[in-house]
Amino acid sequence: MTDTLLVTGSSRGIGRAIALRLARDGFDIVLHCRQRRDAAEAVAEEIRGIGREARILCFDVTDRVAAREALEADIETHGAYYGVICNAGITADGAFPALTDEDWDGVIHTNLDGFYNVVKPLTMPMVRRRAPGRIVIMSSVSGLMGNRGQVNYSAAKAGLIGAMKALAVELAKRRITVNCVAPGLIDTDMTEDLAGEEALKLIPMQRTGTGEEVAGAVSFLCSTDGAYVTRQVLAVNGGMC
Ligand code: NDP
Repeated sequence: MTDTLLVTGSSRGIGRAIALRLARDGFDIVLHCRQRRDAAEAVAEEIRGIGREARILCFDVTDRVAAREALEADIETHGAYYGVICNAGITADGAFPALTDEDWDGVIHTNLDGFYNVVKPLTMPMVRRRAPGRIVIMSSVSGLMGNRGQVNYSAAKAGLIGAMKALAVELAKRRITVNCVAPGLIDTDMTEDLAGEEALKLIPMQRTGTGEEVAGAVSFLCSTDGAYVTRQVLAVNGGMC
């Protein structure tokens, strides 16, 4: 039976590129989005064109009950996953004094609680498979460096690195690896207002990255070549740090 990977936030951007790459690598894919089901449907069609299976789950990762119910129902029907790419995320940038409570809560709930809400229901079923598994969590260069105007986002993405390191230790004996990928400035909807000349000056390679370049790193971590790589942060950032 083909192994299945869930990719959260795969209706567009980096998640979409990851889902397509992992399908090309030979995995069946569970796509996920919050509301853009038609965009996820288009990705599913592309995956079926590659010859792999794709299905779609739609829920808000900040809704713990909705996430648990959707994931438990999917596992009940189709069986436990080989792994998950915890990719859904948002930004709400602003200088700290101007940051609103909503900016703080939204970013922490989506990026950090979203990891817990998705990965918690998947972990025991993955352990019970008694097979190798993969958990890849999307952090960010902001979580490594701390970016001006991103106190909320940097906190969430650094928090994910701490969670990854602890979970990796807990699951190591089970042959389930847990790692973070930390992209720099990648061309997506999220960054369309950020990739100006000033931002490029901060990148030694002097260009933004692509979703496909991030997907390449995720592909390695999910492959059998990545079996002995766990508790690591793989930066994909053109040399930013
Ligand atoms: P996009 O804004 O292009 O896509 C975000 C994806 O996440 C969409 O699929 C969206 O679903 C989903 N999503 C957002 N909020 C929720 C939610 N509450 N519940 C469920 N799904 C949600 O983002 P990117 O592709 O740029 O970013 C992907 C990940 O990479 C994020 O974690 C981001 O923080 C991280 N990252 C991005 C960088 C960049 O430069 N782009 C740099 C470093 C890290 P829908 O389409 O339904 O709204």
